[in-house]
Order: sequence, then C-alpha cells, then structure tokens
Amino acid sequence: MRVSAVWQKRVALIAGIVLLAWAGATLAVLVNQLLTSGERAAVAQQQAAAAASEARIAKYRDNVAETAADLEDRQEQLEEWSKVHFGVEPAAVTPEAHSDGAAPVAEQAPLKTSRLETGRLETGRLETGALIDPNLPPEAQILAHLEARQENFANRLLTAVNERAAKAEGAVAKLGMNPAALVRNAATGRGGPFIPYRGGKGRASSLGKSFAALESALFRMEVLERTLVAIPSGQPANVLMLSSSYGYRSDPFTGAGAMHSGLDFPGPMGSPILAAAPGRVVFVGQKSGYGNVVEVDHGQGILTRYAHLSGFTSKVGAQVAAGEQIAKMGSTGRSTGSHLHFEVRLNGVAVNPRRFLEAKADVLEVKDDARQRVGSVAAVRGAR
Ligand SMILES: [Zn+2]
Repeated sequence: MRVSAVWQKRVALIAGIVLLAWAGATLAVLVNQLLTSGERAAVAQQQAAAAASEARIAKYRDNVAETAADLEDRQEQLEEWSKVHFGVEPAAVTPEAHSDGAAPVAEQAPLKTSRLETGRLETGRLETGALIDPNLPPEAQILAHLEARQENFANRLLTAVNERAAKAEGAVAKLGMNPAALVRNAATGRGGPFIPYRGGKGRASSLGKSFAALESALFRMEVLERTLVAIPSGQPANVLMLSSSYGYRSDPFTGAGAMHSGLDFPGPMGSPILAAAPGRVVFVGQKSGYGNVVEVDHGQGILTRYAHLSGFTSKVGAQVAAGEQIAKMGSTGRSTGSHLHFEVRLNGVAVNPRRFLEAKADVLEVKDDARQRVGSVAAVRGAR
C-alpha cells in the first residue's frame, strides 16, 4: 500500500497535535496534583477577589471624575459664601462644634485646600469618623472622606448662621419691625440697595439639600443683620430732643392740630448734624416747609431726613458713617427757632424715631455684632 507524501505529512501533523494536547492535559493534572488543597483554595480566592476588585474599580472609575467635579463645585460655593458673608476663607469660620449625630465631629479643621487636589491629599488627615466602606478603591475613599467633611462643615456653618439670624430676628422684633416681612420683601427685590446677594436660587439646590438650606439661611441672616445696621439709633445731634414732639400737636404757626412726623432737637445755630446710621446721602437741598434738607438712605427701605439746616457738609452720593457730620443746625423753612427736625421713614412712611434712638443695650449689642460682620465684608470688598 502506497501513501502519498502529502498524506504522510498530514498524518504526522495530526499525530503531533494529539500528542501536544495530551501532554498539556497531563501537565495540568500533574500541576494540580502538586498543589495542596489549601493552596488551590487560596488561588481560587485570589482570582475571585481580583475579579470583584476589578468590577468595583470599573464602577467607581466612571464616578470618581464626576464626584470630584461635584466636590469642587461645592467647595467653590462654600468659599464664595465665606467671602461674601464673612469676609474670610472657610478655614477662619470656626463655629462651636455641634455634634448632631449625622456625622460625628472628630476634631477636624475645615477644608483648607483652595482647590481640591485629590492626587496630593494625605489620607491620614481625612479622618471624619463617618462610615466609609473600607473596600472602596483608594481614590473613591478619599472622595467619600472629603464629601463627609464638606457636608459636616456646611452643617456647622448652617448652625452658626441660624444662631446669628435668630439673634438679629429678636433684636429687629424688639425695635417694632416685622422680621418675616423684611425677609419676604428682600426676597422679592424690594429690600433696598444694600443687599449684595439675592440668593441666586438654583445653583445651591443643585449642590444638595444642605447647600440649599445654607443658602436661604445666609440670605435671612444678611437681611436681618443689614436691617439692624441700617437702624438709625445714633443721636443726630449732640443736644437734647423734645421727647414729646412726634405725633399730633398744635401747629406752631397756625395753632391748628397737625401731624408732626419727626422729633425736634433744639440747639445752637450751626451745631453739627450727624448721620444716625451708616448710609448714602441721597438728597441735599430745599424742600417745601422743611427748608434746607439732607436725606440719608440706609438701605432696607430705611431713610433719615434732617431739616431746617443752616448749611450742608455733605454731597449727594457720599457714603457716610454713623456719627459723621452731614450738615449744620439752623432755622430754615417753617421753623420758629434754631433746631433739627429729624425724621425716620420706613419704605416711605414716617415712623416715630424714638424706638430706634432709645434702643436697649441688648439690641445695640446684636447690632454692633452685625455691624462688625457687615463691615468686615465691606472692607474685604473695598480691598479688591
Ligand atoms: Zn419738627
């Protein structure tokens, strides 16, 4: 029997393949036999762990970039709020610690990194006490720690801001004003020119519930404290006022009953007339009956009017501090002698200035605190 050369080659090739396959299988069996059962289990476990870890990493790799961007947005918002409302970086805002269970406070300094640089953060400094899955990949753990700290910081800031707002609310109410109405009016844009921040609704709520709460708390604090600062509680002249002069009285010229819309301060001609609160001079000139008049806008719908003046020491547009001289006492207009006619107008309506001039020490203390914060913010803005 003759077999062609071609077929001889084919048979040889097939025989070789079969031989190799058998050798491979034998080798695998041999290797497996060489390993102890414990070693085999360990290898299986390692393989399973590696597969699980790969799945986790793949899952988090997609989220890490997104989470980091989120955290950076939130951090920027916190820093902006800190500057706008406190004139400082977040690190300098250190309200008393309030452990409210959600995220236990483990002696943590507020975030100091101006930008989130996840690559260079030392994990050892990120202790928050929050429950974070130790099986997460390292970069996901760093982000989870950061998020917990940020949340914690936002909560502590919220508590501090709410405390300030509550104090200001009490003081404003004691001055006979309606705190809720003030905040409402400011939110609809009728609050006067001094609110720098109208609560850009939308952004904070996209940064989470605690950020939305913080935004509205900051707005409320801002309105109430700025109203306190705007309250004309400073003496408009260093002379005694006629304390009974506000309200109905007999007109000094006609003797008929007439509404007197301010308080009178009799004193020597030329006595310095002082701004009763910080604000901007919005009128310098004559008004019928009032003679020479200066008006100062204090924001939040509060305006003071100084009348019967003999001279002016301020110009329209000038920013004046409380106690700064703006004019000189006189007797122009319908006046029977040298005196200051002092008026306070709330949203255009004259009110008795006495409740402001006679504000109690506790109210003035809260006002002073508010003035310091608002002043420090103004200083920071001025320095820019
Ligand atoms: Zn008067």
